[in-house]
Amino acid sequence: MEVILADYLGFCYGVKRAITIARENASADGTACTLGPIIHNPQMVERLSDEGVGSVNSLDEMEKGTVIIRSHGVGPQIYADAEKRGLTVVDATCPHVKKAQLSAKSLVDEGYSVVIIGEKEHPEVRSIFEWSNAEAKIIETVEEADALPNCAKLGIVCQTTFSGAKFREIVTHLLEKSREVKILRTICTATDQRQAAAMELAAKVDRMLVIGGKNSANTSRLAQLCATKCVTYHIETAAELQDEWFDKIEKIGITAGASTPDWIIKEVYKKCQNR
Ligand code: SF4
Repeated sequence: MEVILADYLGFCYGVKRAITIARENASADGTACTLGPIIHNPQMVERLSDEGVGSVNSLDEMEKGTVIIRSHGVGPQIYADAEKRGLTVVDATCPHVKKAQLSAKSLVDEGYSVVIIGEKEHPEVRSIFEWSNAEAKIIETVEEADALPNCAKLGIVCQTTFSGAKFREIVTHLLEKSREVKILRTICTATDQRQAAAMELAAKVDRMLVIGGKNSANTSRLAQLCATKCVTYHIETAAELQDEWFDKIEKIGITAGASTPDWIIKEVYKKCQNR
């Protein structure tokens, strides 16, 4: 049986960078913490915790030490709040996310009514929203775009991981809403690359394995896309592999979400090869 890895899979630039920054700031006394899990991968969060990087859900849980801002970023009030509490802030916000946050801010400052295209509850989208002075409207469907009122000046930014095709479709509808529309296309290519590579591979294998946290939105999306091409299994670790998945197949493909550590991908790859 042939085991094939997707051309692009696993950690993106922003996640790799955030983990490196977190490791550089680890502390033996447990006072270095990320605000929220560094990535949506429980195995990585546990490993970092063993290395001296904890995780808190709120600054209320920290009396001292270093708060590490994860790649999704946070709103401006968190920086102010951390400073007030005397915490050291280490900012691991992905530079692409930072650009989206500052784009939203500059559009508001220039007098635009701002629309963020993205998933309403996603932490990155919440952070972009906070940088818009909590003034932006967040939409993720064409219907929501159509329901917006007309305005004098419309500014558009996007969740970095949003689908490029869906973004274009929604923007076409938003163009009807104002005579002056400024579009800041803040999409990062990592997601599109991973999705395109996964789809390409899924089309030429018998089965696909998609590795990543069950709570990771980008991994679940990869699994959904692959499932349109072939039988697909979404797993978190090699321990979930089942013998019957390998019955009478010639080729199996592997991809992994942007928050899946290399060591887990390698483990799954090796186990598949030994079948
Ligand atoms: S997907 Fe793109 S924007 Fe998001 S963390 Fe990775 S590199 Fe940064």
